[in-house]
Amino acid sequence: MLERFRLDGKVVIVTGASSGLGVAFARGLAEAGADLVIGARRADRLEETRALVEATGRRCLAVRADVSSSDDCEALAAAAMSAFGRVDVLVNNAGVGTAVPALRETPEEFRQVIEVNLNGTYWMAQACARVMRPGSSIINIGSVLGETTAGLPQAAYSASKAGVVGLTRDLAQQWTGRRGIRVNCLEPGFFASEMTESYAEGYLERMTAQRVVMGRAGDPDELVAAAVFLASDASSYITGVALPVDGGLLIT
Ligand code: NAP
Repeated sequence: MLERFRLDGKVVIVTGASSGLGVAFARGLAEAGADLVIGARRADRLEETRALVEATGRRCLAVRADVSSSDDCEALAAAAMSAFGRVDVLVNNAGVGTAVPALRETPEEFRQVIEVNLNGTYWMAQACARVMRPGSSIINIGSVLGETTAGLPQAAYSASKAGVVGLTRDLAQQWTGRRGIRVNCLEPGFFASEMTESYAEGYLERMTAQRVVMGRAGDPDELVAAAVFLASDASSYITGVALPVDGGLLIT
């Protein structure tokens, strides 16, 4: 049974792998056996992730890419194909967070979040699905904020992440039966990262105490384990789902 969770011989693209959860996905999926192609805008930080992946003994290609550009997304998938000849898994992790009160949010601020979190997820999924073979897996990183609120004004972020759930469902419907590509979504709760560092002092602790059944933030490896499951043949009969990894936040 444990063999089903292995990713040996698979090529995985992780976007937003220059910090936070993307670094954990890249390293963890490499530990499960995959070769990695990592993308983000900060090339210097991607090099640090590349070194971490290569330290596991796996191969890694780092490609500077802005996911809000469909051309960059095509170029990232093409670079993976030219380096490794295949793309088996996409972890659509790149994302930006904002907390702007709705009456003050400018069209440009709102559009920027949608451009990266929703549109970027779609451009990457399209670019990869065009080259993926049957048996491949796309994992979109949503958020519990696609399902609920958490005390901050996050209209743009919540809308983008709710959109990711709809996108996941529809792409699964279009691609799983016809092309053999499973499409699922992970909805993280609270995990420490550069994104959460920007929260006001005490917010994370307060929210965790009030809303998370387990009373603590998640360890990135607890999220990575779910990604290994969805990336691997262990989840071969699962498509179109949004899986919360949130310590019970969504049941409070
Ligand atoms: P983070 O540390 O801020 O990482 C975000 C990553 O996305 C960075 O690597 C950043 O790289 C990349 N990125 C941002 N804009 C991009 C663009 N236009 N093109 C390519 N890459 C871009 O935050 P994180 O917490 O790890 O977030 C990772 C994902 O998890 C996001 O989708 C986020 O919404 C989701 N999430 C996080 C939490 C949490 O508690 N941490 C909870 C729910 C969901 P560059 O700046 O180098 O481009």
